[in-house]
Amino acid sequence: MISGIRAFLKGNFGAKGHAGAKTGDRRRGGVVTRFAPSPTGLLHAGNYRTGVFAYLYARQNKGKFILRIEDTDTARSKKEYEDNIVDSLKWLGLEYDEMYRQSERGGLYRQYLEKLIAEGKVYVSSAEEETARAAKGENPGPRKSAIRFKNPNKKVRFDDLIRGEIEFDTTDLGDFVIAKSVTEPIFHFAVVLDDFLMGVTHVIRGEDHISNTPRQILVMEALGAPIPTYAHLPLVLAHDRSKLSKRHGAKAITHYRDIGFMRDALLNYMALLGWNPGTEQEIFDRAGLIKTFDLSKVQKGGAIFNEEKLRWVNKEHLKRVDPALLASDIRSRILSSERARDLKWNLTDEGAQRLAPVLLERVSTFGDIDALITAQDLDYYFAEPAYDALSLKWKEDVDLAPAARHLDYAKAALAGIPDKRWDEEGIKAAIWPYAEAEGRGNVLWPLRYALSGKDRSPNPFTLAAILGKVATIQRIEQALRLIKTTADAKTQLP
Ligand code: GLU
Repeated sequence: MISGIRAFLKGNFGAKGHAGAKTGDRRRGGVVTRFAPSPTGLLHAGNYRTGVFAYLYARQNKGKFILRIEDTDTARSKKEYEDNIVDSLKWLGLEYDEMYRQSERGGLYRQYLEKLIAEGKVYVSSAEEETARAAKGENPGPRKSAIRFKNPNKKVRFDDLIRGEIEFDTTDLGDFVIAKSVTEPIFHFAVVLDDFLMGVTHVIRGEDHISNTPRQILVMEALGAPIPTYAHLPLVLAHDRSKLSKRHGAKAITHYRDIGFMRDALLNYMALLGWNPGTEQEIFDRAGLIKTFDLSKVQKGGAIFNEEKLRWVNKEHLKRVDPALLASDIRSRILSSERARDLKWNLTDEGAQRLAPVLLERVSTFGDIDALITAQDLDYYFAEPAYDALSLKWKEDVDLAPAARHLDYAKAALAGIPDKRWDEEGIKAAIWPYAEAEGRGNVLWPLRYALSGKDRSPNPFTLAAILGKVATIQRIEQALRLIKTTADAKTQLP
């Protein structure tokens, strides 16, 4: 499974030898984890999932969580991508205790490379030697000099928290390159030295790094550094089971923020990419995740990123929040829409309080509210609907006369409701007995249509409660006028 390297995955060891891990690493007095992204593009959920696991593990052990920007590839690293990483972590609430940039640590890499050279553990391989190696097709290094690690050619064994015991014979690696020069370390050196100097106790990262681990352990040993505990996470896969990537349309985490997902829902969903608590529970708040997450229970198989499931998780989070607390966010979301500005919609705080629970029933994310607005599906909350009078006719009726009669009744009944009883219950109480007697559809259809002008909309009691008494009665009057005009027009026909 790991190309070019002999690996022996020795069964399912789980957390063997790490029983104390969840309660803190007593060996070195505290857990330190890191998230080490390379700012070479916009990172997606598959990338941030690693950060989420490292964060949860650090927090549950009262340890430290470090952000390390791995920007040594100056050609591909961009400040805008780094900014996006910082924004994303901030939005997700993955607060880090320390932040570093590898581009600012050149002095340290140099110092330690020179030390290892002086100790004879690494050596400078000349340009001729490199050219000769390349000609042999062996480890084609750069055609200029390089710094190579003196491989002791031994077996390296480590206990991966997720994959169990892993053993590699490093002989196949030869004397591998760890830097192009003392000022140009490559990944295998920078990562290892940083993990050492930053006191990282748990290296939590994607399983695509398993094959790098033996090299990195050898370098650790040469530095006299304690070997961290490794946890290689299963890949995050797209629906076609290949590694999730931009090619599949994987989006930046900030995209989900911008289209109205809740940050705790994202965090919750990402925590489930490769982990589950072994119970039915799938919805967790932040504190619940920190308490329940268990690195040693992370699965080995790939985890599929499913946007529908993410939407479901978001909906579950929405359901757990008091709609009153979301009303002002909903209000600003609506009022900042283009349609609201074009049509000069008015929505008071109080109106938003009434609208929030009804709207939240219909959506899984705040972004869905935007979609409802674009579909002109919220227009009737803000302006009198326009429609053809015939739509007010209930299916069994032959003409509009019964609709007019029921609307007349509703108008009088609603006008009689005192202002302080103007809520869903009070409105229903005023209409319901009549609707029961006359047939619910006969009465409620024209009333609902008069208020919304839509075949599908909330029930008329809910609508009336949201619209308020004045607008409700105005709309019923408007419907009655429309019926009358239509009837008049008909009688004038030859
Ligand atoms: N910078 C590496 C990456 O983006 C991570 C290195 C590590 O976690 O050891 O995949």
